[in-house]
Amino acid sequence: MPMPRGVRGGILRNARAWNSLLKEQVPVPVYHPTPSQTRLATQLTEEEQIRIAQRIGLIQHLPKGVYDPGRDGSEKKIRECVICMMDFVYGDPIRFLPCMHIYHLDCIDDWLMRSFTCPSCMEPVDAALLSSYETN
Ligand SMILES: [Zn+2]
Ligand SMILES: [Zn+2]
Repeated sequence: MPMPRGVRGGILRNARAWNSLLKEQVPVPVYHPTPSQTRLATQLTEEEQIRIAQRIGLIQHLPKGVYDPGRDGSEKKIRECVICMMDFVYGDPIRFLPCMHIYHLDCIDDWLMRSFTCPSCMEPVDAALLSSYETN
């Protein structure tokens, strides 16, 4: 399936950003190209680097915000980040998944690099993202 033009451009930009990140970052971050593999970023093949850059691009399309229990919205019902099991505190940076579950920004970004599903309901995040591209 061909990707929409805007997404492709974003991925290429991300791939470039990723490559410059690889050169600059010390120590090298550890990534999980598949759940069974753990490798340093510098040991990834070009194909894997592109896949990771692609995933980072998708993650960055997810809406984010800060936790505000006083505001109306779905985050009112969710008090705890199931990834780190910590209660949300007012002002915590959070990310919204298409299924309306919320997590700490750092927790979910790290999680999504390993598994692209919601840790609460196991809904695939990319399916929802791709269908939102098609309707826009
Ligand atoms: Zn968390
Ligand atoms: Zn969910």
